[in-house]
Amino acid sequence: MLKIHNSDIFLRLKESGAKKIALQFPEGLKREAYSFADELKNKGYSVIISGDPCWGACDLDLSSLSTADILVHYGHAPVDDTQNVIYEFIRQDIDLNSLEQIQDIIEDKRVGLVTTIQHVHELDKVSDFLKERGIESVISEGSTRTPYRGQILGCTYEAAKNTKCKEILFIGTGVFHPLGVSLATGARVVAFDPYMKKALVVDPERLLRQRFAKIEKAKEAEKIGIILSKKSGQKREELAERLCSLSDKAYLISMGEVTPDALLNLGFDAYVNTSCPRLAYDDQARYPVPMLSPQEFEIVCGVRDWEDYTIDEII
Ligand code: SF4
Repeated sequence: MLKIHNSDIFLRLKESGAKKIALQFPEGLKREAYSFADELKNKGYSVIISGDPCWGACDLDLSSLSTADILVHYGHAPVDDTQNVIYEFIRQDIDLNSLEQIQDIIEDKRVGLVTTIQHVHELDKVSDFLKERGIESVISEGSTRTPYRGQILGCTYEAAKNTKCKEILFIGTGVFHPLGVSLATGARVVAFDPYMKKALVVDPERLLRQRFAKIEKAKEAEKIGIILSKKSGQKREELAERLCSLSDKAYLISMGEVTPDALLNLGFDAYVNTSCPRLAYDDQARYPVPMLSPQEFEIVCGVRDWEDYTIDEII
């Protein structure tokens, strides 16, 4: 069984004075919730586990605080200063030996370093490793949504932009984050997957071609839904209202969980997503009609040029 909590969390809970604890786990770790609940119950706490979907610290189950004194949110660092929440995230080490291949792929002598929350504690070690091989690295602060140096989210790339480097090394899994870094910075991006122990240079061209096709398709839409999230760290009301004012075909839609079924039932010809930016880019294949980012909708409305295309961020 994965050990996902440590003694520090018990100390923080004790200091909080809380007696009733709500637990919120992301989808991939939900099955671990009961073992932690057992430990808490053995220490005299009363526990309630949030059963709703959770995709990030932007998605806090604040309703649980109506019955609990404190919410323990697992798997993510804070994206805002919501009170009565304790965050507990997992740290995963990197096998530095597997990074040797990087020297052959990196072209510049100076690179920005970014990663996701579970590897941020390893960035200084990676920096030393690169330095020994003649490559200088820059680890920058991000935004308030990314409180750790070098940390990025799928909705926030400030730590990458702030490096001001022409080449950036991303450490982590999947293609979405490095593609986001590439689009947000315009830099050459090398992605190193510490589990597969493989590195590659990211090419955003395919994604851009797909997005261009969706924009063109959305231009044919007769009614367009502008999605406004109900989630704590995804609600961009001002943006959604501004976008809605750009077109007579646009309607504001309030949503919690954005699912293909919900969109199908609503029956719009296209949607604009102001909630988690990843929904438009990463999940498009699941949706029945085009799901545009705010910037893409601006292109549809003629207030932004394709040449000024940029990735959506919540900063
Ligand atoms: S908005 Fe999306 S990318 Fe940003 S923290 Fe939430 S789930 Fe992650």
